[in-house]
Amino acid sequence: MRCWNNDEILEYLSGLRDRGHLDECPGCRSRVEEARGVFARRLVQPDVDAGFFAAQRAAVGSRIGRAPGRWLRVWTPALGATAAFLTLAMVTLMPPSKQEPLVSQDDREFYREIYASVQSEVPRAAQPIQELFDDSSKEN
Ligand SMILES: [Zn+2]
Repeated sequence: MRCWNNDEILEYLSGLRDRGHLDECPGCRSRVEEARGVFARRLVQPDVDAGFFAAQRAAVGSRIGRAPGRWLRVWTPALGATAAFLTLAMVTLMPPSKQEPLVSQDDREFYREIYASVQSEVPRAAQPIQELFDDSSKEN
């Protein structure tokens, strides 16, 4: 007759093994009862007052600043997604507004005049050199 090892005792306590050997062996019966007592003690809930956890939650809340309420925590992601969807829908579905030209008619005229005054056949960088040879521009 072989006695159970710890794994076999655990299997019995877990309901995975028949009682079989325990009926014949008082030593293994006592080991099983001892193990059952150990598990029972471990499974007992710690004797802590419920107010302890409430106080602990309050302390954590005060440390991190007042946490948002449940309503805000639950609905913030949904509100954000809805806002994003509405923005996307507005951008894609709304007809394009009549675009105002960036440059008004007056500005166009102004730029045309400037362009005409700057425009010449001689490049701007070459103008001083050309003036050296242009007698009409140098009246000393
Ligand atoms: Zn045994």
